[in-house]
Amino acid sequence: MKLFVWDLHGVLETGNDRAVVDISNEVLRQFGHPERFTYENGVELYGRKWYEYFERLLPDVSHDHRLSLQDACFQLTEFNLTIQRRWLTRTVHAWEVLTAISHLHHQILISNTRSDNLELFLKTLQLERFFPDPSVALAVDGHSQDVHRTKTDVLSDYLAGERTGDSYEEIVIIGDSPSDMRLRDVAGGVTYLYAHPKFSFRDCVADFRIRDLRAVLDRV
Ligand SMILES: [Mg+2]
Repeated sequence: MKLFVWDLHGVLETGNDRAVVDISNEVLRQFGHPERFTYENGVELYGRKWYEYFERLLPDVSHDHRLSLQDACFQLTEFNLTIQRRWLTRTVHAWEVLTAISHLHHQILISNTRSDNLELFLKTLQLERFFPDPSVALAVDGHSQDVHRTKTDVLSDYLAGERTGDSYEEIVIIGDSPSDMRLRDVAGGVTYLYAHPKFSFRDCVADFRIRDLRAVLDRV
């Protein structure tokens, strides 16, 4: 039995880059800025910190102002899901890959999304059958108000709580960010860095770099 550890945004999900653009543009409108991001900017800047988006678009405003814009974006993300759900689609081949794994192995999802939103996103993507409850659809903020909690902490706690904790023959980690790849530090494992077609791979160490989720089936 193996354990597959998934990330959601940018991996099992496609379209968040456009939601980030729409949210940013809505905040720009609210703050009275005439500038707007394009969806091409969204592809180019994906994975950066939100204030870095504003550095690109608004080079002449203060860093504090960019942080205010960033805060407003986070607020909008948490409390208005309409924009995000407008663009949210399942990544091609995600269903068949998750299905094949589910017959033989365990799989969990660890996401920086708030737990309430995570449940809703999984329903929207029709992936809730693979990650049916909070014991396997793990939100980083799910069980703690500690803002310093990371994905690494979540995986550690998951493995400590598993009766079969040490018995996994392999841990397979699939994500699109450096923090996903660092999950290997918890208990070892093989890492797959995924990027959608047209997106650059994030700058980090990984065993494999893939653009098609079916590549993960090699581990099944
Ligand atoms: Mg991600």
